[in-house]
Parts: sequence; C-alpha cells; structure tokens
Amino acid sequence: MPKNSTGQSATDAERLACSIVSDVLGVGAEVTFHDDQSRNAMVDALVRYSDGRVAVLEHSSLGPTAEANLERNVNSPERRNIVVEGLAGCWWAYLPRDLGPKYLDSLTRSVLELERSGVSDSDDLTERDHSALNLPAGVSVHRVDCDRDHPPTLHRRLDGVVGARGDDPNALVEELQQVLFTDPVTRKLDKLRAHCAAHPEAGEQHLFLDVRMSGLSPGWLFVLTDKDEPLPCTVPQLPEGLTQVWLRNSGTYSMVVRAIDGVGWRRDFPDVSRLSP
Ligand SMILES: [Zn+2]
Repeated sequence: MPKNSTGQSATDAERLACSIVSDVLGVGAEVTFHDDQSRNAMVDALVRYSDGRVAVLEHSSLGPTAEANLERNVNSPERRNIVVEGLAGCWWAYLPRDLGPKYLDSLTRSVLELERSGVSDSDDLTERDHSALNLPAGVSVHRVDCDRDHPPTLHRRLDGVVGARGDDPNALVEELQQVLFTDPVTRKLDKLRAHCAAHPEAGEQHLFLDVRMSGLSPGWLFVLTDKDEPLPCTVPQLPEGLTQVWLRNSGTYSMVVRAIDGVGWRRDFPDVSRLSP
C-alpha cells in the first residue's frame, strides 16, 4: 500500500490509483502520496524504485462524474446481476448513464411491483403508469426467460455498455492520443514536466486515467474490462516526457491497461481483495 503520511488531501480516486500502481509495480517500487497542497501544482504521488529511479504520478478522470458512482454500483461483476427476494422470474433493466444512484433501490421495488401486476415489459406502460411505479425516465425493464440456471435475478445494464465490441484497436489508439493532447490531461502533463524539470532525479512520468463510460469510445470499455479483448499491438508514442499511461475503467478494480512509451501495451490484474472498499 502507498505511504500515507502526506496523503491527507488525496481523493478516494487518487488513493485507489496509487494502490493499483503500488500493487502492479510490486515490492520493487514504493509509492508515496506527495500532494499535501502545501505548494501549488504538486504532483499527486512519487514512485521510488529499489534501483534508485524515481517516477512522478498524476491522476485524472475522463467522462462525467455522475457516471463514476453509477459504474461502481452497477458495472462491477458482483453488482451487475442481483438476486432479488420475492421475484418469480428474471428481469433485464437498461439504465441511462445519468441515472441518480438513489434510483437503484426504487428500481428493484418497481420491478417487483410490475411483476405483481402481470406486466412484463415497461414499453407497455403509459407515461402515467411509468411514474406511478416510480420508474425513472429513461429506464426500461422487461421480463426474460433466462437459460442459465440461477435464482430469479435482476440483470442490470447501463445503456451503451453492451454490443460495441471489436472496434479497430488502432482507431482506439488514435483516440487516446488525441485525449493526451487535450485538457484536462495537458494540464496534468504540464505538472509532471514541471516537477521533473525541478527535480532531475525524477526520470519517469506516469499518468493514471480513470475512464468513465463516456470518457472514451465504447470499444475502450471492452479493452479495459474484458481480459479477452485484444490490446492494441502498436508501440505507444506518448507526448514528450511521458513514460506510461495507466488506464482503468472506473467500474473495475481488477484490471488496468498500460501504454508504455516506446515499449508496448500491458494488461495487469491488481489484487482486488486488497483494493475494493
Ligand atoms: Zn437470469
């Protein structure tokens, strides 16, 4: 785990990023929170390798904040499909990406209510029924015959997360390249460069990006969440000075993908049991 002494002001996302970096780099690297707000434009963390090299780390996020909460509550494998007591059959629920997290509980109650009233598809409801059942706008639910053998389950999916597999990996690389030359990322890169200019012992610059659903194209979502989805096979050419970009889908704790400048792409699997809250 990263050292905590100066990490009082670190956000949860920054802490998690540092924990993932620490776990993946292993015993040969010590990650320390650095930004205690005592000066302007401090980098988030330092990585000290056992051979004396030092790296600086900045964290940033791509995509709307509301999505991060929803992803945590819906996208993780253990929360995607929930067994609901009292339900007689399986249901699918498609949720808009901007759904407030508070609606997730009422969603379960609405589905139970729908089943009780013999309705099997929210498309058959009038607008009035929709609101009487407390189904939030944009949510659609329908009953399904599941072929898998499991207790009655509410299968929850976020809109746009299904069915975008197989995008051209080279197009994905191009998209990331553009993001690296756009705010807020460029400001983070400026901080990394400024630190290294003032501290010559810092020879590596790492950027950690939490990628929310709308942060990059859907193809990226699969690269960042499915271990079987092929990684790009290009040799990354990162912006001047940048050594590594770490990419994590904000609904996933168990996987991180790295673009390493001049080397290639790597996918690592941090120890989830030690990281998830
Ligand atoms: Zn099912």
